[in-house]
Amino acid sequence: MLSIKEAAERIRAGGLVAFPTETVYGLGANALDAAAVARVFELKSRPETSPLIVHVASIDMAREIAAEWPPLAEELAQKWWPGPLTLVLPKKPAIPEIVTAALPTVGIRMPNHPLALELIEQAGVPIAAPSANRFGQLSPTTAQHVRAAFGDAVEVLDGGPCRVGIESTVVAIENGALKLLRPGMLSLGELESAAVPSESTAPPLGSHPSPGMHPRHYSPRTPLLLVDGPKSVPGRTGAYVWRKKSGLVCRSVHMPAAPAEYAAKLYSVLHELDRENLPWIAVELPPDTPAWTAIRDRLNRAASPEQASPEQIWPSQSSER
Ligand code: AMP
Ligand code: MG
Repeated sequence: MLSIKEAAERIRAGGLVAFPTETVYGLGANALDAAAVARVFELKSRPETSPLIVHVASIDMAREIAAEWPPLAEELAQKWWPGPLTLVLPKKPAIPEIVTAALPTVGIRMPNHPLALELIEQAGVPIAAPSANRFGQLSPTTAQHVRAAFGDAVEVLDGGPCRVGIESTVVAIENGALKLLRPGMLSLGELESAAVPSESTAPPLGSHPSPGMHPRHYSPRTPLLLVDGPKSVPGRTGAYVWRKKSGLVCRSVHMPAAPAEYAAKLYSVLHELDRENLPWIAVELPPDTPAWTAIRDRLNRAASPEQASPEQIWPSQSSER
């Protein structure tokens, strides 16, 4: 098994290492090495228009790659790092263009996982890492998920299952205000409770045009459809993923009632069902409340477009879409 020391040496030498974070497993490369980062894009088949998040082990390290570090960044980092929060800020020239998809900004995060922090510290460089999966597929929340995606092509530091289970909340800081680019388990409301209130902070969820925000993403190979309840399940041949008791006879998976526990389990359940080659996976939609926003966002992107219309998941916004 790969030690942290060996993994850090590999990163410094321009190689790739998959490592655990509290959100999902990352596929890491030295963020200051354009050739190493290019290998990440190649291995994932990730389009170069999709920027990577740069992982740091301290606020000082973040300040070394951000060209600006406004008071709001300091406040949020002090309060939520290490944690599932990515801050998008103007980048310094040391960060190669390939990392940021040629954007003048860089997404930075300090992950809350001892192995990740130790790896970054020992490597002595910030680590650019997207999720350790093939582009567009389900994100990995265990080392086994990473191995299933890449086999021997990449070594994995095994830190067990990810605690959060859903990708980080991504926010940009522009003119002292927060802009949500991708919802996560840390909600905009929680972030704003620490930050100055601002009218320009909340764009319509899921609609912000940002590189990498592909409408179909995080998907199993099996068609996934979103349903209101067991009555909308198309038959008995697939799987029904539910929160409230169903009494259905098809393959049925019971999910936790609370959002944090649901998120931690979601990708593992979908990975597992995906391996069964079922004709479909029906997922009962969680309620349309702030605590479920990130989970609904990922389910929305995972759903097969022909089977789940945006209206099913965003009824209140359907007229604008
Ligand atoms: P992943 O690493 O697979 O979780 O994806 C990283 C996501 O972070 C991307 O898809 C972007 O949406 C977001 N991101 C990273 N860097 C930036 C940036 N500079 N500007 C906007 N969004 C970013
Ligand atoms: Mg990803």
